[in-house]
Amino acid sequence: MKLYQKTVFELSRLMSSREVSSVEVTQSFLDRIEEVEPFVRAFITHTPAMALETASLVDRKRSNGEKLQPLAGVPLAIKDNISTEGLRTTCASKILENYIPPYDATVVEIIKKTGMPLLGKTNMDEFAMGSSTENSAFFTTRNPWDLEKVPGGSSGGSAVAVSTGMAPLALGSDTGGSIRQPASFCGLYGLRPTYGRISRYGLIAFASSLDQIGPFAMNPADCAMLLGLLAGHDPRDSTSYPEKAPDYLSAMENRNDKLKIGILKHNSENGFDPEVKDAVNRMAGLLEKEGFTIDQVELPRTDYGLGAYYLIAPSEASSNLGRYDGVRYGYNGGGDNLENMFSRTRGAGFGPEVKRRIMIGTYALSAGYYDAYYLKAMKVRTLIRQDYKEAFKKFDLIIGPATPTPAFRIGEKADDPLEMYLSDVCNITDALAGVPSLSAPAGMHSNGTPLGLQLTAPPFCEGRLFNVANYIYRNRDPQLPERPAVRFPEGGAE
Ligand code: GLN
Repeated sequence: MKLYQKTVFELSRLMSSREVSSVEVTQSFLDRIEEVEPFVRAFITHTPAMALETASLVDRKRSNGEKLQPLAGVPLAIKDNISTEGLRTTCASKILENYIPPYDATVVEIIKKTGMPLLGKTNMDEFAMGSSTENSAFFTTRNPWDLEKVPGGSSGGSAVAVSTGMAPLALGSDTGGSIRQPASFCGLYGLRPTYGRISRYGLIAFASSLDQIGPFAMNPADCAMLLGLLAGHDPRDSTSYPEKAPDYLSAMENRNDKLKIGILKHNSENGFDPEVKDAVNRMAGLLEKEGFTIDQVELPRTDYGLGAYYLIAPSEASSNLGRYDGVRYGYNGGGDNLENMFSRTRGAGFGPEVKRRIMIGTYALSAGYYDAYYLKAMKVRTLIRQDYKEAFKKFDLIIGPATPTPAFRIGEKADDPLEMYLSDVCNITDALAGVPSLSAPAGMHSNGTPLGLQLTAPPFCEGRLFNVANYIYRNRDPQLPERPAVRFPEGGAE
């Protein structure tokens, strides 16, 4: 077994017992990137020299006998909407194509302090708006299980990097599904933490009342380790939660089989692939056998979630993206007066989906329409939150499909925004309610791509998610491959 195929837990053990060095570990991932990246294109920016430099620094510290964190020396990839000082951070947008942040996001600061080598910045939908990574202004990332299919989005690059073994861990962001949906399409674990659990200082804003940073990993323990490292209060993010994070790894190990799990009853299953439902039922059966109580749960107002989200998120985006005016940073389109410059900058700098969101949001917030759209959507959000509160009085956890279908073909939904929006129908309401939610692999579709189970817990109960996900992990079908055998097309990469 090569180093890149090992779990983070194992890599950490091997490094602390000095059986392998961080340079060896990092090199193994860099070699894998050389091998696979031309076919899937998960990275916007590669940083091999930086990664090796951090790795050798960690190795030196270790040989000097310094006490290091368990994740020291473990490399990772970061979505390109998380600011890295001195390193291009594009949000996959032309408007930020050459933007070099003057500061690190808090999560990046922690990662650097810990000594985790950065392998590169990953591809995404422009400004995290999308569900397929096709909205990247640069190129489309491919699903490694089937190169003709999308990896999901918007954190598609991060999901692909981990599922192919190009990185053992990655960070994404989830505003309304952007971690969980690609995790499901690529067959790995992806967590959207509770709103406020991880600082968002330095995450380029899309919709601030929804945006969260979260981890991708190949198993629940690795995911728990990264969350544990990053969770905590940050005085620079006023929405961050003041309490210290618990020890997620030991929470995960405690047997917790008295939990009551609600299996989500969808009011409408229009557009749901029947194999998705079978996979969820199979997972419920497995958990029942493990001693959990399973019953049906209803969140009666989930049908209104998508409508509310696609008013609230664009409204916030229209305001957040006002800063890209060509004056302070980013692309400048020129022009002979101020107005002209704004319109040339924004006209050429933003892609079509971002413009669509800005227009929807500006409309929903405008005088005369505010009450009918934005305010109404906020009321719906409150009702959805109440549905979750009610449900969590009876259940400790909710499970359901992570996506209505498996990965779709590249181009299939690219010209139909509404169809694209519908692909996050399972992920939206958790985001509106602010609760933590994890996507876990739930077997394969007959088309050869993975399916996902979504597990949702009450606020700040991430430990419970890992705990239950670990039963799923331990019972995974040994016949199924954990990773895609990226089939290289004849004639090589395009
Ligand atoms: N796909 C959703 C959207 O386009 C969610 C994106 C996200 O979570 N960043 O808005």
